Amino acid sequence: MSVPLLDLKAQYRSIERDVQAAIARVVDSQHFINGPEVDAFEAELAAYSRTRFAVGCSSGTDALLMALMALGVGQGDEVVTSPSTFVATAMCVARLGARAVFVDVDPRTHNLDPSKLEAALTPKTKAIIPVHLFGQLADMGAILRIAQTWGLPVIEDGAQAIGSELNGQRCGTFGAVGCLSFFPSKNLGAFGDAGGLVTNDEALAKQLKLIRAQGQQPKYFSQLIGGNFRLDALQAAILRAKLPHLDAWTQARQANAARYRALFTQAGVDGTQVKPSPAHPLTLPQEQPGARHIYNQFVLRSTRRDALKQHLTERGIGTEVYYPQPMHLQACFSSWGGKPGQFPEAEAAADESLAIPIYPELSEAQAREVVAAVMAFVRG
Ligand SMILES: *Cc1c(COP(=O)(O)O)cnc(C)c1O
Repeated sequence: MSVPLLDLKAQYRSIERDVQAAIARVVDSQHFINGPEVDAFEAELAAYSRTRFAVGCSSGTDALLMALMALGVGQGDEVVTSPSTFVATAMCVARLGARAVFVDVDPRTHNLDPSKLEAALTPKTKAIIPVHLFGQLADMGAILRIAQTWGLPVIEDGAQAIGSELNGQRCGTFGAVGCLSFFPSKNLGAFGDAGGLVTNDEALAKQLKLIRAQGQQPKYFSQLIGGNFRLDALQAAILRAKLPHLDAWTQARQANAARYRALFTQAGVDGTQVKPSPAHPLTLPQEQPGARHIYNQFVLRSTRRDALKQHLTERGIGTEVYYPQPMHLQACFSSWGGKPGQFPEAEAAADESLAIPIYPELSEAQAREVVAAVMAFVRG
């Protein structure tokens, strides 16, 4: 039996009629830009996120770019973020002529370590972007305390974390604004590129809507520099058909994670180990107390990660490395002078991490097969 990393067809089959009806609605209306589907999706996304406002946009990347533009980040500014992320987080900073300053991660979560945050702040710092990697929130209490002391706005990169919570508080409600991605592999996936922003700040929501439409208000009279960052009505309608299922899909992902934990523990893996070592060559992802982890990814760590990946590929099991190169070592950011050894936790995570299938429709038989294949490798 082959086990793909993600099976979008299984999910589509379960909601096919609703999605087809949503697409037909938009096609019949021929209303493709803005309009009632986008408005309704924004209201539903705000309700889901427990924020006053939501703004749909063209991608998670553009959500980050729009948030930075709205906060006035530009030439010569610094934005502090995590080196363990998808490149978009830091690249949006670079596109505005600013510089990303990285802070090493907490190995338990692969999220920005607040104990190292203050040392990275300078008079040039304009914002902080914690990334909620794999579907688990960063340590927002500690990050917000520092941000408030320094008077800095926080932009949450919640691209992988829609609906995740810490002590009952939801992703996107901690900072000034939360950025979401509806890339097809995220927990709420569109049929193409799409994204969104959530905020409780009315002025900021208005500013984001201006930026989304070339700064125009009214039409053809631009008040500020923006772009074309709109969410397609077709994508909004598809997302509206999918959003009511999101919590059930999240619960299925959480059940799969719990099953993996039980199976790996039965097989002798110590689930409390944070990083792999000769005594514990395989580790499981750590869930923080008070977290509602939405498991966009379930990430193992192995000191022999590349060989483990190869072993699983040969057995038809899909895996992926999130992410093989930390941001400070990316060629595109070489002018910032990052050096190997600078962020040891992020570098170890890049060398050891391997995501295994966790999608909602994964069956028990598939999960057992994944665990058996991983353990066959570990036992050598
Ligand atoms: C997916 C992702 C993005 C970018 O979202 P897109 O919709 O693909 O542009 C940004 N940050 C993180 C952490 C992501 O996982």
